[in-house]
Amino acid sequence: MQEQEKKPIHIHPLTRVIDDMNRIFFEMGFTLVDGPELEDEYHNFDALNVPKDHPARDMQDTFWIKPNKNFGEKGDKLMRTQTSAVQIRFMENNKPPFKMVCPGKVFRNEATDARHEAMFHHCEGLLVAKNVSLADLKSTINTFFDKFLKKNVDVRFRTSYFPFVEPGVEIDVSCFKCKGEGKCQLCGGSGWLELAGAGMVHPKVLNEVGIDSNEWKGFAFGFGVDRLVMLKYEIDDIRLLYSGDLRLVNQF
Ligand SMILES: [Zn+2]
Repeated sequence: MQEQEKKPIHIHPLTRVIDDMNRIFFEMGFTLVDGPELEDEYHNFDALNVPKDHPARDMQDTFWIKPNKNFGEKGDKLMRTQTSAVQIRFMENNKPPFKMVCPGKVFRNEATDARHEAMFHHCEGLLVAKNVSLADLKSTINTFFDKFLKKNVDVRFRTSYFPFVEPGVEIDVSCFKCKGEGKCQLCGGSGWLELAGAGMVHPKVLNEVGIDSNEWKGFAFGFGVDRLVMLKYEIDDIRLLYSGDLRLVNQF
């Protein structure tokens, strides 16, 4: 008994990172929000302006769940492919201004390898207020990564496309291992790490949930939590995070 008490407590690196993120965003005034993992097509795709014929809706990419007729269910459900669905549910029930984050599990129907799993974690953030711009997004992301990585990092935006934002950007952070010098394997010699997708909330998405896009603006961002864990702790295979192998956990 005495011996057992002496053993150190090990916290899974994913749990560690999610706890850290929650604390940082909470300190920055964001509300932590949770939502269902079993979603409907409307919240996961339609309300987010994802076109009806978008390949993400395909059987190959999404786990579709047949309705249980014994419970009177109608229409297929799906395992959410992104935590953005939670933003829609939050906006349906809250009046702006607000800022929220929703970390959680997401699911993709794909073959697994060192960089892909069928289940992984996203963290999504949303801010809706008056007079919001990309500059506010950039400073929020900057502050988060400075606190999260406990070092000063540079943030750069590259234009990109996501149906629910306009304009959309990919966010790179200067490599925290080689300090952006491009001299390490972690960043593949580029000096930058791709860490998030983001953008200004598409007016269609705001209008869909009854928020007047002429009066209110918003930004949203989302990142893969597993990728952050893998970069921070230099773990090279995502499957290790879900293997239940104590040899991994016992290192933390
Ligand atoms: Zn590097």
